[in-house]
Amino acid sequence: ESYLPKDCICKKAVTYDTIDSTNTKAKQLAEAGEPEGILLVADEQTNGKGRRGRKWCSKKGANIFMTLLIRPKTEPKHLSGITLLAAMSVAGAIKDVCGADTKIKWPNDIVLEKKKICGILTEMSSEMNYVNYAVIGIGINVNDDDIPDELRKNASSIYLETGKMTNRNKLTAKVVEKFDEYYKKFLETNDLSQVVDKYNSMLISMDSEVKVLYGMAETADPKEEETGIARGIDKDGALLVETKDGIKSIVSGEVSVRGL
Ligand code: ATP
Repeated sequence: ESYLPKDCICKKAVTYDTIDSTNTKAKQLAEAGEPEGILLVADEQTNGKGRRGRKWCSKKGANIFMTLLIRPKTEPKHLSGITLLAAMSVAGAIKDVCGADTKIKWPNDIVLEKKKICGILTEMSSEMNYVNYAVIGIGINVNDDDIPDELRKNASSIYLETGKMTNRNKLTAKVVEKFDEYYKKFLETNDLSQVVDKYNSMLISMDSEVKVLYGMAETADPKEEETGIARGIDKDGALLVETKDGIKSIVSGEVSVRGL
């Protein structure tokens, strides 16, 4: 907490030794009226979550599990953009604190040496087309030297890829500091113009072929798929894919994009 700037949106940090899920806890606090800006950080999660009901593997002691509660005065459709800013914040923080160059898999996975080292899960409650609250959960594999075998093919940690240990508090604070700056600017413009170029320069599959899987409901098989060339995000965070029928803008949440 002491690392954070004075006017930071994060006013209060609470740390947990073990918790089921920092997002679940943050949602409970939000429902109970907690104001914007509380940060929950846990050393271990017993029920870490990914998107679409997936699990986030959350071993004790070496990684970062953090959730920030925000109450942006925006429409729900802007939340995917705010989530993308969280990804930019993680990438920037890893660069500043660890000296490592990461890439981004649209919309918000952070990848180091082609392996996923961070996942972000935003959950939201809205009323009358306005966001009531959102919790932004970020899991970063930091000093983990023991990623489960079933994940190891696609997942890694900063330590495993760089050989260097990272001070988790410093990295956590840097993520919050970066997010604070992006978030304030976003609330003025309601778009991502501040990061589009930087994001695209870090985008995996930029200008190369991707497969778009439509109909990503948890249980359903993808209804339809299409290949095209990824041309980067637009200022709303949609991925532009050049297909044989022209440029399509893919909105996160509706589809999944795989590199070929
Ligand atoms: P995908 O990464 O498969 O495209 P996604 O972006 O929706 O899906 P997330 O919600 O970010 O995935 O994370 C859940 C998935 O990430 C899990 O299904 C698992 O494959 C993988 N995973 C789980 N725990 C970890 C971890 N600690 N580090 C890296 N990857 C993990």
